[in-house]
Amino acid sequence: MLKLLPIFFFITTAMAAAGQKPLQPIHFTVSMAQPEKHCFQVMMHLPAMPSDSLDLFLPRWTPGYYQLLDFARQLSGFKTSDGRWTQPDSSRWRIYARKGTPITVTYTIKAEKHFVANPYLGPDHAYILPGGVFLYPGGMINSPAVIHLHSNPGWTSATGLTKDGSDYYAHDFDELYDEPILAGPLETLPTFTVRGVPHTFTGIDLGDFDKTGFNRDLQKIVEAGSALIGDIPYDHYVFLAIGDGRGGIEHANSCSLSFNGKDLQTENGRRRMLSFIAHEYFHGYNVKRIRPVELGPFDYQRADRTNLLWVSEGFTVYYEYILLNRAGITNADDFFHALENNIAAYENTTGHLYQSLTEASYETWSDGPFGGSLEKTISYYDKGPVVAALLDLAIRHQTHNASSLDDVMVRLYREYYQQKKRGFSDAEFRQTCETIAGTSLDELFSYATTTKDLDYDKYLGYAGLRLERDGKTFHIRPVAQREELQTVIRNAWLH
Ligand SMILES: [Zn+2]
Repeated sequence: MLKLLPIFFFITTAMAAAGQKPLQPIHFTVSMAQPEKHCFQVMMHLPAMPSDSLDLFLPRWTPGYYQLLDFARQLSGFKTSDGRWTQPDSSRWRIYARKGTPITVTYTIKAEKHFVANPYLGPDHAYILPGGVFLYPGGMINSPAVIHLHSNPGWTSATGLTKDGSDYYAHDFDELYDEPILAGPLETLPTFTVRGVPHTFTGIDLGDFDKTGFNRDLQKIVEAGSALIGDIPYDHYVFLAIGDGRGGIEHANSCSLSFNGKDLQTENGRRRMLSFIAHEYFHGYNVKRIRPVELGPFDYQRADRTNLLWVSEGFTVYYEYILLNRAGITNADDFFHALENNIAAYENTTGHLYQSLTEASYETWSDGPFGGSLEKTISYYDKGPVVAALLDLAIRHQTHNASSLDDVMVRLYREYYQQKKRGFSDAEFRQTCETIAGTSLDELFSYATTTKDLDYDKYLGYAGLRLERDGKTFHIRPVAQREELQTVIRNAWLH
């Protein structure tokens, strides 16, 4: 399932990247011998102390989940092979040993809460969320890491990390913290290939549903997403179904999905699940590669704030609808219905009079991922896709349907991810949109930075549509008379 490469390949790569002294890998061994106690036993081995003391940190949050989670509370039994250590603050351990000597650290991680942003170990499976399990050495976050699992009988494991024999390898701790490992009695659906790249869905307790049809739908979603950007930036991808629950998290080569096959037994449930998976998958482009400059490399000790989660999250919601439509899984009415629900959720909270999209993005660390009090906050998961839709229509109208929001995403991918190898600033994002549109987008960007009312009918009108309000519900309807360009835009926009 996962591509195998010999370990010496990576060590050579790490040497080349450092440009001088080879960075020696830090080895971790994770034991899960007593799963009923919900405790991982972790051993960390550093080949040589860089000085006579070294600070080890446990992250305070995990990429993709913008909340401080205080993983250190779950760490106990800290010991070093040399015996001397202090704990200057809750997430930091200072170890002492002579410079140049190897050192081994052992500790226990309590992992009893089954949640997509928390490590879990139980008799049924293990979910190793790396940020909550592996310490990183201060100043050495670019070191490679090798993970050796002492798994349980009958269990297999899967992850976006590269596999080497029975170990997993990360080029540095940023890669390690991005890619969880799922272990247990995994059920794996047949691998499918898109543009020569293998994609695999695997997980625990998948349940009973039409697995062949589901796998085919997944493939169509990946084909629609990769066709949009025109490139696949990884050499293997794995969908990790971590069991029943709520939520998902995107990673560079994988995604973690709360999943229960029962949800796929109704037509609505099937579409909802595919939409959710399309969201996490499209994040592999939008936020893992196409990203605001603040979102990487991360500081794992403090909140990484950005004004642009309305783009990273909101546009990803918009593109989950678009991908499903292009994959032939939904029709235009389903698409409108999803957008109408977002409009209603936004318009029916008084928070829309108080908080802008950029403020909601910045404040998410205190408000929570879906906004805080309904009176004072909004969710960028609702207003974000709505503004994306209006922006898409504005670009299509301004360019006589020659360009669309897709071209913005492709331009950001090529210019910032591929060429400049960094994220974009707020101004660079706006400039890219305006360059593609060939005009100023003042009004649209005021919808992001202020609480101004959205002129739905103006933008929907570009595709021969309008918004009807009926109490607390909204309907997108065709206007009676359409111009030719409106019809062309409407037909190019949705199938
Ligand atoms: Zn998301």
